[in-house]
Amino acid sequence: MNTDELRALDHAHLWHPFTQQQGWEGDEPPLVIERGDGARLYDTDGNAYLDGVSSLWCTVHGHRQPEIDAAVLEQLGRVAHTTMLGLSHPTAIELAGKLAQITPAGLTRVFYSDSGSTAVEIALKMAFQFQAQNGHPERTKFVKMREAYHGDTIGSVSVGGMDLFHATYRPLLFETLEAEPGDIADLERVVAAAQGEVAAVILEPLVQGAAGMLLQPDGYLKAVRELCDRHGVLLIADEVATGFGRTGRMFACEHEGVSPDLMCLAKGLTGGYLPLAATMATEEIYSGFLGDHTDYRTFFHGHTYTGNPLACAAALANLAIFEREGTITRVQQLAERLTALLDDKVRPLPHVGELRQRGLMCGIEIEGFDPARRTGHLVTLAARLRGAIIRPLGDVVVLMPPLGITDGELDELVAITAMAISDASAEGASDSLRARLLN
Ligand SMILES: *Cc1c(COP(=O)(O)O)cnc(C)c1O
Repeated sequence: MNTDELRALDHAHLWHPFTQQQGWEGDEPPLVIERGDGARLYDTDGNAYLDGVSSLWCTVHGHRQPEIDAAVLEQLGRVAHTTMLGLSHPTAIELAGKLAQITPAGLTRVFYSDSGSTAVEIALKMAFQFQAQNGHPERTKFVKMREAYHGDTIGSVSVGGMDLFHATYRPLLFETLEAEPGDIADLERVVAAAQGEVAAVILEPLVQGAAGMLLQPDGYLKAVRELCDRHGVLLIADEVATGFGRTGRMFACEHEGVSPDLMCLAKGLTGGYLPLAATMATEEIYSGFLGDHTDYRTFFHGHTYTGNPLACAAALANLAIFEREGTITRVQQLAERLTALLDDKVRPLPHVGELRQRGLMCGIEIEGFDPARRTGHLVTLAARLRGAIIRPLGDVVVLMPPLGITDGELDELVAITAMAISDASAEGASDSLRARLLN
């Protein structure tokens, strides 16, 4: 099929995530991506684009990594899928051992699922059931952060705090307590007021991604850990976005020497290859589910494709590259380079407000426009015309390049982003950009 035929079929049958389909069909022709290589993606007409947001925060070392390709193929030569219900398989076992080794101390148990949302659902249910069957049935409440994002299933939306995404579903959600992120006194007030009824606090450590890359002050995460310990409350760290090197450490929790009781991993786990998630738990939590069959202390939860062998093989190869290439050290260099590039090229631009960066996660606030103008979206259209794919969060332009990006590609990405911000800020940008895309 050629590009036009593919687009017509897309319009006829697809319903895209987080997309107003009315605009999708009318405004500008969608890009159809056919292949990738390193930090670049190629559309069906052969045009190249830098992958500025790691294919929605997933791609780690880059696309078509020979080692990950080979690992998936090798596993494919054995078996594509077998169940984890009642059976086990080598790649899931080896990956569990590896994850227990590299995640913060104390997280020794791995429960697999398929997405960040399910990893969060599982953590919530584990925390709730752990409290219920280990002497604290009164601990039934969860404390979440304002502006939090933990996924799109009903449980994960319940602990989300983004009204734009979540308000419609309010009648379906369970009740939660809400604290101001970054404000330890507020969290103390919320937990104390709940008088021993809190099961767990859930947060995105260091960076609230989907909220627009909002940063928490240094020391906050550590203070949250101490507060949870004082109040007998579990701490759930959602590292779905921050995990696997994005912040300049393997996991964001490492920056403050924090070990959560439960940790959610997904996006970068397989290097951005296949859907796989893991909920990590401490031995204490795990032990709280042990008992005779007739005690009914089992964790009654599991998804059909849990621990898929192909995905686990990709994850093992992904982690092997981290070790072999010293990826974390490289990310720290890239993060410094990104800071300098942003200071040089982006900060001086009119309409650029706050710049927020932690490692290779970055949000650029575009100011001074009516939200209805959709300036953030216009920046992505302009970037596309200049050879980069980015995706904004409202009027926050997000950059989250693959960790394997080269210095030259990073320079190019920031230069394109700066020019795209200027293009999108110009009067009549909406019409002129669309006209160019329709040509
Ligand atoms: C993306 C994200 C999720 C949801 O992950 P899915 O795989 O899209 O379900 C959960 N938590 C955080 C912090 C995320 O960024």
